[in-house]
Amino acid sequence: MQTVNIENQKAESIIRKCVHCGFCLATCPTYNLLGNELDSPRGRIYLIKSALEKNEFTQNTIHHLDKCLTCRSCETTCPSGVEYGELIDIGRNLVESKRSVFLKFKRDFLRWFLTNRKLFPLFGRLFRHSSIKTPKLSPNKKSQKILLLSGCVQPTLAPNINHSVKNVLIKLGYNPIERINGECCGALDQHLSANETALVKIKRNIDNWLIEGIDTIISTASGCGVMVKDYPKLFDKNDPYYSKAEEISNKTKDIAEFLVNEDLSQLSTPKVKLNYHAPCTLQHGQQLPGIVESILTKLGYELPDVPDAHMCCGSAGTYSTLQPKISKQLRNEKLKNLDDDQFELILTSNIGCLLHLQNGTKTPVKHWIEIFE
Ligand code: SF4
Ligand code: SF4
Repeated sequence: MQTVNIENQKAESIIRKCVHCGFCLATCPTYNLLGNELDSPRGRIYLIKSALEKNEFTQNTIHHLDKCLTCRSCETTCPSGVEYGELIDIGRNLVESKRSVFLKFKRDFLRWFLTNRKLFPLFGRLFRHSSIKTPKLSPNKKSQKILLLSGCVQPTLAPNINHSVKNVLIKLGYNPIERINGECCGALDQHLSANETALVKIKRNIDNWLIEGIDTIISTASGCGVMVKDYPKLFDKNDPYYSKAEEISNKTKDIAEFLVNEDLSQLSTPKVKLNYHAPCTLQHGQQLPGIVESILTKLGYELPDVPDAHMCCGSAGTYSTLQPKISKQLRNEKLKNLDDDQFELILTSNIGCLLHLQNGTKTPVKHWIEIFE
């Protein structure tokens, strides 16, 4: 009950910041696609306000809240600093009890299956996107204690991503630790309104990483990275976990952030014509626009200006399964701007975007770190 009150207070203070200017509408993918105010950030804020203040919400409210991608493009645009990403999670929690039994089951099953350490690797390997083809290097010297987040689905579906990161880091003199069957960041549970389950995982991660004395936490899936960086937002400032979560958040870096000032020219890369898709979780969630593009440009790749690069590709975690029609429409729009015959490769920074885009094109899609041979 206390958690609910804290959440309500937080939602009210976020909603108060909204001045209804509507600037966010132009950059919202669902508003652009569907043209309905209730599928815009401002419309959804109104729906959450009504649910909160008057306890007024219907199946229609759930319908419009669920169509939100949580891409946070609106946060980047908003001049008033409305923390929309936090608000939509609270809004979905508010209406959770009114979901149909079928929808609840679907959401619960998805997060249970995707985070299940035994079942998912068993079935997921049938859909593997990329396997490891290069030898594993041995670390040659000890350095700072670096933990490489493995994520829930990435080790099964694209094990080559973290394999490539480890080899790059080892070549640069670092010695990363990765645990197979490692920690789940809690994002899937958190975004599907299973907050208690998410909090158990998050507190366990915080405690373990602090006890182990990890210096830097590196994420190769920008969706996991933004979740860990946002851990402090999940605790009240008086909660003893708040300062611990801040410490963990400050230690967390996307792989691009970690490598941006390294000399990567010594590593060999292919001569191919490529394009790059910036995931929302990197450009809006972690507020790191242009970071990978700057690394690729330094490496000699000529990247075109991608029209509507701020727009979501429609993957958005479990969104592609729960809202397949909108998700596919957004992917088609994205690929129109990203892919044509001149490109031999499309790069990105998040496993969800990678798999989603790959399902819509014959051009190979990879994590950008996989270009290092
Ligand atoms: S841009 Fe910000 S302040 Fe303006 S309507 Fe959107 S959320 Fe509200
Ligand atoms: S998070 Fe994305 S889809 Fe949701 S309201 Fe904001 S811009 Fe629109």
